Amino acid sequence: MGGRIPSPPRRCTVRCPKCAKRAEFSSAYRFFKNPNASIHPMGLKFSYGSVAVRMPKKLSWKSSRNPTLQAQRTWGPGEPWGIATCGACGFAGPHKLKWPKDAYYRGTVGGKTLFAPDREFLVRLLRLIEHQKSPSNRNSPDLRAVPRIFFLKKNHDAMIKTLNRLLEL
Ligand SMILES: [Zn+2]
Repeated sequence: MGGRIPSPPRRCTVRCPKCAKRAEFSSAYRFFKNPNASIHPMGLKFSYGSVAVRMPKKLSWKSSRNPTLQAQRTWGPGEPWGIATCGACGFAGPHKLKWPKDAYYRGTVGGKTLFAPDREFLVRLLRLIEHQKSPSNRNSPDLRAVPRIFFLKKNHDAMIKTLNRLLEL
């Protein structure tokens, strides 16, 4: 992989930590810019915001050695904790996201690996490629983070094939 690694997504489809099949990951914490936001007793408050614990029964700050650092990682680049749930083996528990290593949707085009956070992302990307467009400022930042090589004309057919194959998974 070349270029910068984008911030890990808050929600994404990952390889199940138990069986490697399709699992859904959801960040365990949510950041609010308002420091006075009404949050769960287990949340954290800072001068610039507050963080809510979304699933305190499954994963609280106790899982993290350093809650403040963990809170910062939750909305910045890093390896956030969350809950992974797998329909194939029934796993539902804490998982530390390693992005893009954990990505379930991935394909190689032009010698580079494309990582997609979820199906919806694949659909939006396919729409752009089919219309031979590059992501513009009007597109969401996640699509603009896709390396340019995947938009090159020489990779057009391979991209359509790869995206359609991933959508069938
Ligand atoms: Zn599983």
